[in-house]
Amino acid sequence: MALMETTALLQEMETYAEAHNVPILNANGRRFYAQFIHEAQPHRILELGTAIGYSALLALSLAPADCTVDTVELDEERYAIAQANFARTPLGTRVTQYLGDAGDVAERLAQEGRMFDFIFLDAAKAQYPDYFRKVTPMLAAGGTLVADNVLFRGYVLHPVMMPRRFETIVGRLQEYLRLANTPPYQTEIFPRGDGLARTRRMTDAKGGTS
Ligand code: SAH
Ligand code: MG
Repeated sequence: MALMETTALLQEMETYAEAHNVPILNANGRRFYAQFIHEAQPHRILELGTAIGYSALLALSLAPADCTVDTVELDEERYAIAQANFARTPLGTRVTQYLGDAGDVAERLAQEGRMFDFIFLDAAKAQYPDYFRKVTPMLAAGGTLVADNVLFRGYVLHPVMMPRRFETIVGRLQEYLRLANTPPYQTEIFPRGDGLARTRRMTDAKGGTS
C-alpha cells in the first residue's frame, strides 16, 4: 500500500478503532495527549499498550523529527495491525515494536539501561502500580510520565455504586495515583475523557534528579 499522509492515516485509524471497539485515546484524550507531547518535545518515547498504533503515530506526528517510539503490545493480532499501519507512513520507521507483556518488556529495557524522556502507560490498568515501579528508573531527568484511564469511568474518585467486579482495578488505580503523588513525584489529573495523569519528578534538595 502507498505511503499515506499522516492526518488521513490517523483519521482512518480512528474510524477503524470505533468500528472494531479498539480503546484508543478518545477525542478528549487525544487533545490532552497532543498537548503533553507538544509541551514535552520528547526524543525517546516508551509506550506500554500499542493497540493499532494510533497514539504512537499521533505522538510522532507532533514530536521533534528525531523522536523514536518503543511500544509494547500483548495481543498478536493488534501487534500485526499496528505493524501494517506503521508501514504506511515514513513516521513508522521510527517505531520499535515489542510483542509481549508490558511489565516483562519494561523490566528487560530497564535492565538494558534504556532511558526515555516520555513514557506512556496504557496497557493493563490493574498493573499500573507495577509499571510505575518498573518504568520510573528509566525516566530521564525532567521527563514526563503519562497514564491513561486513571479515573476508570469516574469510579476512582467516586467509588459509590461501583460494581464489585471493578474493585481490584479501581483499587490499583488509586494505588497508582498515590505512588505518582508521593515525593519526588507530582501528578496532575486531566479528568476529561477517562482520566489522564501527567507525572513529573520534582527536583529534590539533594539536587540529584534534574
Ligand atoms: N495506546 C493505544 C491504546 C492502547 S489500548 C492508543 O491510544 O492508541 C490497551 C492495549 O493494551 C490493548 O491493545 C491491549 O491488548 C494491550 N494490553 C493489555 N494488557 C497488556 C499487557 N499485559 N501487556 C501489553 N499490552 C497489553
Ligand atoms: Mg487508554
